[in-house]
Amino acid sequence: MRLLDKLDAVAAARKALLPAGIEVFGTPIEEIYSSTEAKIDGRRILFLGTNNYLGLTFAPECLKAAHNAIDSEGTGTTGSRMANGSYIGHRALEREFAEFYHSQSCIVFTTGYQANLATISGLAGVGDVIVIDGDSHASIYDGCRLSGAEIIRFRHNDISDLEKRLHRLGDRSRSTLIIVEGIYSMLGDRAPLAEIVKIKNAYDSTLLLDEAHSLGVLGKTGQGLVEEKGLVGQIDFITGTFSKSLGSIGGFCVSNHAQLDQLRFVSRPYIFTASPTPATIASTRAALKLLRDGTELRRQLWENARQLYSRLQELGYQLGPEPSPIIAAILDTPQQALALWKGLLEKGIYVNLILPPAAPEGKSLVRCSVSAAHSVEQMAYVGEAFGALRKTLFQ
Ligand code: PMP
Repeated sequence: MRLLDKLDAVAAARKALLPAGIEVFGTPIEEIYSSTEAKIDGRRILFLGTNNYLGLTFAPECLKAAHNAIDSEGTGTTGSRMANGSYIGHRALEREFAEFYHSQSCIVFTTGYQANLATISGLAGVGDVIVIDGDSHASIYDGCRLSGAEIIRFRHNDISDLEKRLHRLGDRSRSTLIIVEGIYSMLGDRAPLAEIVKIKNAYDSTLLLDEAHSLGVLGKTGQGLVEEKGLVGQIDFITGTFSKSLGSIGGFCVSNHAQLDQLRFVSRPYIFTASPTPATIASTRAALKLLRDGTELRRQLWENARQLYSRLQELGYQLGPEPSPIIAAILDTPQQALALWKGLLEKGIYVNLILPPAAPEGKSLVRCSVSAAHSVEQMAYVGEAFGALRKTLFQ
């Protein structure tokens, strides 16, 4: 096989799965009207798959901060954090995140993907072990690969499987990094964090928690699962992203271990990439304040999430195990998922289509993500659309 033939095979597989003329992945968005509405293919569309959990992408405070930063600091830093890309704004945001999590230190990265890559590959290396949940996000898998450590997967959210694997490692459990997520991005379920903390303490391992989907969503001040479960201070490293509830782009890692700071000198995804733009940092700082004080936004988000979850359940859709702002309808075949996705788009609703192998257990998903910014009318319309499609497609 010649080098490029592999990509022809990818194109053929996609063609077999998706009918011609349907642009499912990377649909161009022509105009953005608000945090919940946009124009796609000339039509007004309701966003229901954006991770914009608190709806902050158009928050006036964030827009103003970003405009001011562009005017005073320019459009980009044109350099890595290691070189000319550390502005006082980057340092201020690190301090603010550290304070928010009552942690000793924080590092800000250019994306959430890089936060995981940098933290995992900086902490673990050849000879170490990383034990991860089988449903981990690609950035966790890729960070593990970059580290060169031995990678062991345990069954999704299965505590006894995790314990069994640590037990087998014997003394090596002490040089083991365990990685779990606050809310899992496919089915919206949470890690059993209290039990995981107990196990990591018993085996003297180190725990990293990715709060990408739970930051701003769980806990009184929005810290995530760590706060909801009353475990602040008991997790070794917490990573997260600015690209969901904070409405911008970037990532962070906080820790009480003084060694975190050394990642700045060893971590390639920190050293060899340009730092976040001044506008990104400024809007994220403004958004972090709104997130921390966002009790009302969280209440609205959860009201919308619970309402849609129970509506879809009543309609007979198979869903993830618990209500959350990520609500995935689980379909047996890619064709069923595609039909539902297409039907929703025809009714003006844009959701995420997840086909094998991206979804767990070979299933296909139509994945919705709910926002605090969705109105009562929008949520009611979504319920009606799912109801009508249930009748026409599946009965
Ligand atoms: N971790 C998890 C669990 C995620 O779902 C994502 C993004 N989908 C990331 C990390 C990466 O974040 P970003 O988009 O900011 O690179």
